Amino acid sequence: MQKDYTNEILELIRRTSSSLPKDVEDRLRASIEKEEPGSAARGALETILKNVELARANSTPICQDTGTPIFYVHYPEGMSTRKLREQIRAAMAEATKRSYMRPNAVDAIYDKNTGNNLGGDDFPYIHFEEVDADQPLVIELMLKGGGCENVGRQYSLPDNSLGAGRDLAGVRKVVLDAVQKAQGQGCAPGILGVSIGGDRGSSYIKSKEVLFSEIGTRNPDPKIAELEERLTKEANELGIGPMGFGGKTTVLDTKITGMHRLPASYFVSVSYMCWAYRRRKMTVKGDEVEYD
Ligand code: SF4
Repeated sequence: MQKDYTNEILELIRRTSSSLPKDVEDRLRASIEKEEPGSAARGALETILKNVELARANSTPICQDTGTPIFYVHYPEGMSTRKLREQIRAAMAEATKRSYMRPNAVDAIYDKNTGNNLGGDDFPYIHFEEVDADQPLVIELMLKGGGCENVGRQYSLPDNSLGAGRDLAGVRKVVLDAVQKAQGQGCAPGILGVSIGGDRGSSYIKSKEVLFSEIGTRNPDPKIAELEERLTKEANELGIGPMGFGGKTTVLDTKITGMHRLPASYFVSVSYMCWAYRRRKMTVKGDEVEYD
């Protein structure tokens, strides 16, 4: 008989919505020191961090937009994904009742909010990955804000308007173009999830998936890792700054992943994550549940 994890998942949602991960908070704090005292950029970062502390203390959402819930479930062989899906959905409805989540699922055809964050089979978005039977159940959750989602972009290379060819130099150009076009609208400072290759759909999915890793995690390929560092540095030289107020902190980190592609296509997808980079994980070990 499979255990019911609804309450544990509810706690995962509460933590994700109200408590920013330490690596993100640390990077935001470090960024304050780079901004001029008294500047609008520094003021914006200070306000963001005050808000982060208040949300954690009061168990209230870090931002009024609690975003699209994206679950990645790594389940041991033999576990029922149908039951896990039901439990995730029940936890999401309860989290909405308790105001950990704003009702965010709007029927796109009839413009009607379901009121409980459950919409068809795709809201919340749940991805299942089977692991060996002796591995723990791990459920990761990311809440992806709508404003930052709106400034994500996809490029089909070559892009002659940007002089971007089908190589890493071209990738660099289009990613910087995406940051330039976002300006402050995706609630900068942001974190860039970049996927190179795939088709239009898989490329966007991977560009979000890569955002599950901690800030500072580098791609194991040194060439890609170097591009990640370079893009963060160059994006911060654009002068857009926190919330678009100008300054040195436009991007907190860049994460890039590569995929195989058809010979005919070369897609680069950029998922822009706002400063409200809400991402948490629960791990079930026997009767114990750990959160991080
Ligand atoms: S983009 Fe992020 S910080 Fe901005 S309103 Fe949306 S969730 Fe909030």
